[in-house]
Amino acid sequence: MDKRKVGVLGGGQLGRMLIESSNRLNYEVRVLDGEGAPAKQISSHNGHITGSFKDPAAVKELAKGCDVLTAEIEHVDTEMLEEVSKYVVVEPHWSTFRIIKDKYNQKMFLKERGVAVAESVDLEGLREEEMVAVGGKLGYPCMVKSKTDAYDGRGNFVVKSEADMKTAREVLKGRPLYAERWAEFRLELAVMVVKTKDGVKTFPTVETIHEDSICKLTYAPPRNVDAATAKRAQELAKKAVEGFKGKGVFGVEMFLLKDKAGTLLVNEIAPRPHNSGHYTIEACPLSQYDAHLRAILDLPIPDAGLRLREPAIMLNILGGRTPDSHIEIAQLAMECPNASIHLYGKGEARPGRKMGHIVVTAPNLAAAERDIQPLIDAVDDQKG
Ligand code: ATP
Ligand code: MG
Ligand code: MG
Repeated sequence: MDKRKVGVLGGGQLGRMLIESSNRLNYEVRVLDGEGAPAKQISSHNGHITGSFKDPAAVKELAKGCDVLTAEIEHVDTEMLEEVSKYVVVEPHWSTFRIIKDKYNQKMFLKERGVAVAESVDLEGLREEEMVAVGGKLGYPCMVKSKTDAYDGRGNFVVKSEADMKTAREVLKGRPLYAERWAEFRLELAVMVVKTKDGVKTFPTVETIHEDSICKLTYAPPRNVDAATAKRAQELAKKAVEGFKGKGVFGVEMFLLKDKAGTLLVNEIAPRPHNSGHYTIEACPLSQYDAHLRAILDLPIPDAGLRLREPAIMLNILGGRTPDSHIEIAQLAMECPNASIHLYGKGEARPGRKMGHIVVTAPNLAAAERDIQPLIDAVDDQKG
């Protein structure tokens, strides 16, 4: 391939899987993150930068040696991204990161473009009684969310009653907040969208199961969702992503409501590879990581490369009760011939930390469900 160098802000599991993909095409990917970060462990060259993806000077240093910059996380310094985009290509565009990294801004941006989202109200600067009034307007339960630096539910608070509003205010003190109407969903869906120089295309629709606000499982195809609904989810995801500038893959999380019409709302968008797209490594001809790399480098992405080749279920392995409980799950998964095991090479296995994942593929979803059930049981047993 050509000699273009790709820089990545952040070197966690997403960056690591992006490197697994770029290694096969022999592209050099330079990572900005701490020493020994998961992505760096599998990429041996002298171009990595040690530092934080939140540090403007480090971003600048990374940009110097690269042709294209991308990120595995949206919580980045977008002022610096804007500045470096004067002399290096940044994909997706810096403005996309700026809009998306603030979840309230992101919702307003989508709403203005006619993309359905849960009703959201800004809480910044409000006194407690004003927050309670917002709760009264949205009804209970509702969600209070941090606008920024939120992931895996850290930054969300379910407000069940007026009294809870005070607790939400205390728990999320110091963070910029907004409130969201409760989405009465039947289930959650997600679609990985690929934005290229020519337009947008999508991977299949998957069902996601969250536990304690962290993605636990994805089902491809979704269970008990008709083809028309799955198609509507892809169309909504496309429409949601079309409004953003730049290229790359985007993860679009959606709620499928319980109402008769089966209304779809966009929950949130990630301007990068996403947990709900891990299954593509085993289940689709091209993975979300292949697609991201090709999109940012303007390389071909045949539509048929994004199809579901075989049904798949993805199970996240989180840090559990003991420092090694995630290893025990991986060992158990080795008994299953059609389970692909991914361990991320992270240090300490704190409870709830994403340590790896398993993808089980099978000729039909029922067979995949049968095979993965013992692993789900083991994960449930080991919850910290
Ligand atoms: P991520 O790790 O995906 O970035 P996050 O911390 O940004 O997560 P959200 O996606 O806002 O969190 O919410 C996490 C989960 O909480 C959702 O997937 C859903 O299960 C639940 N949730 C969020 N908002 C609502 C809502 N308005 N109504 C009902 N449930 C919700
Ligand atoms: Mg989020
Ligand atoms: Mg989310």
